[in-house]
Amino acid sequence: VLRLRDIHLSFGDHEVLRGIDLDVSAHEVVALIGASGSGKSTLLRTVNLLERIDDGQIFLQADDISDPRTNADAVRARIGVVFQSYNLFPHLSVLDNITLADRLVHRTPKAASEKRALELLDSVGLADKARAFPDRLSGGQQQRVAIVRSIATEPELLLLDEVTSALDPELVGEVLELVRALKSRGTTILMATHEMAFAREVADRVAFLHEGRIEEIGPPSRVLRAPERERTREFLARFL
Ligand code: ATP
Ligand code: MG
Repeated sequence: VLRLRDIHLSFGDHEVLRGIDLDVSAHEVVALIGASGSGKSTLLRTVNLLERIDDGQIFLQADDISDPRTNADAVRARIGVVFQSYNLFPHLSVLDNITLADRLVHRTPKAASEKRALELLDSVGLADKARAFPDRLSGGQQQRVAIVRSIATEPELLLLDEVTSALDPELVGEVLELVRALKSRGTTILMATHEMAFAREVADRVAFLHEGRIEEIGPPSRVLRAPERERTREFLARFL
C-alpha cells in the first residue's frame, strides 16, 4: 500500500529524516517507535504530504505521491489521519464530525453517510453519542470518535500519531481496543506510539527510528524482545 524510498528531509541544516526506506503492505500494522525527536511525526506528516521531502520517493499503491505535480488534497482524501490531541470540530455534533469529509470530499449523500456513521459508532459502543457535541464526551470517547471519523471514508491507509498520549491512563485502554478492532477489520495502519505493550500486541512489524534512520525493523517478537542493535536495547531499557 505504501512504499517509502530513501526519504530525506531537513529543517534548515538539521536533517530530520536521513534515508528512510519502509514498505507497509495491505492489512499490515507497522508501529514506529523511537526517542522524542527521532522523526516519527515528521515521517507521518511526510506521508500525508504535510512536509515536502528533499529527496526520495513515496508511493501510495502505484502512485508516486512525492511527485511535485501530485494533487495533495486528492492524496489526503485517500489517507486517514489521527493525531495526539483531539481532532474534532467543537461546533459540530459527533455525527456531523464523522460525516463531514464523506459528504464534502466524497460527495456521499447525507442519508447514506449518516447510516454508515451510525453503524460505525454502534460498532465502537458510541451510538448514543451521535447527537452529542465533543465537549460532552470524555477524552477517550473523543479520540474514538476521531478514529471513527478517520475511517468513515474507507481510506487506503490510516496514520495514527500517538493517539493515546494526551489521554488519562484509564482512558488509554478503550482507544487501544478500537485500534485493535480496526486491525481485525483489515485496516492498513502506520502508527507512531510510545505504548510498547500496545506495539507488541497489535503491530505486525515494529520500526525503531533513531536520529532519522530506521535502526531496526521486524516483528515485535524480535525487535522488542530480542533486539539485535545496541541502540534499540538502550531505548527499550528505558521502558522497563
Ligand atoms: P516525539 O516522540 O516527541 O513525538 P518525534 O519522533 O515525533 O518525537 P518529530 O516531531 O518528527 O519527532 O521531530 C523530529 C525533529 O524535527 C525534532 O528535532 C524537531 O524539533 C524537528 N522538527 C519537527 N518539525 C519541525 C519544524 N516544522 N521546523 C523545524 N524543526 C522541526
Ligand atoms: Mg511525534
